[in-house]
Amino acid sequence: MDVLNLSFFKILGIMENDYDFQIQVETNSPPLACPHCGYETNLYKHGNREQLSMDLPIHGKRVGLLIKRQRYRCRDCNQTFWERLEHTIDEKRNCTKRLLSYIEKQTLKRTFVSISEDVGLNEKTIRNIFRDYINRLEQTLRFETPNWLGIDEIHIIKPRCVLTNIEERTLLDILPNRNKETVVGNLSRIPNRGRIQYVTMDMWQPYKDAVRAVLPKAIIIIDKFHVVRMANQALETVRKQLRVGLSAKERRGLMHDRFILLKRHKELTDMDKITLDLWTKNYPSLGIAYDLKESFFDLWDSDSRQEAYFKYHD
Ligand SMILES: [Zn+2]
Repeated sequence: MDVLNLSFFKILGIMENDYDFQIQVETNSPPLACPHCGYETNLYKHGNREQLSMDLPIHGKRVGLLIKRQRYRCRDCNQTFWERLEHTIDEKRNCTKRLLSYIEKQTLKRTFVSISEDVGLNEKTIRNIFRDYINRLEQTLRFETPNWLGIDEIHIIKPRCVLTNIEERTLLDILPNRNKETVVGNLSRIPNRGRIQYVTMDMWQPYKDAVRAVLPKAIIIIDKFHVVRMANQALETVRKQLRVGLSAKERRGLMHDRFILLKRHKELTDMDKITLDLWTKNYPSLGIAYDLKESFFDLWDSDSRQEAYFKYHD
């Protein structure tokens, strides 16, 4: 059975413990010609050594390939050479090429420490792979300046600013942090940045300051998600304040209050409505807070600004 799915290797043996597989392999295709003189048939084996290269985890365990690497000597020019593994192995990082590309993708999503534990390469190597990957992306990708720029966040060791093209749904850049200076520096290097009409972001003040400074004409749009979350947080504050002053018995009367209060009005069951009415009679501030939260959410459901305006001033 070919558990490795690597046609280049033949499996000689497998060892396994709770965390690791160690798989002994050798290549199954000897070299066709001498790399020094190019002569084709006059090669003979001249020693070998074992080389450990990491591969993709299998069933949640790290995989080390113990490669029996063959050395050859050429009868024609008398020179020796190690058999080549470049189809499969990245010699610089000492892992399979497919593990390398797996790590590259993972570095955009997870911490280096957790990837390191997962694949069995040390953290410094993971960081170097990430750095090479980002450099390669920067060199090979030329991005169109978007009309609609997204400013987001990703957590790699620490929060970092991420720039995206909203319409194309592509990544433009990952910055080392989310400071105003860093964002300003990066935005000011975007060619034809006057083309950017809209910028979407969360409510992180340095992003707003940076955009105001570098893209004064762009319209800033706050992600709906971040805004409606604030309405829920305000309601939570009122609810918690109220509970502090209540007796244990009164608090029991407010069971599941958070669950019901977070529901949109149209999602309330008949029983929820009766409960909510009762609470509103006993604790008017809770009813007011709920209504305010709902009217705020309604703004986002409006089809147009005008409709939102009338709803708000109703
Ligand atoms: Zn030769």
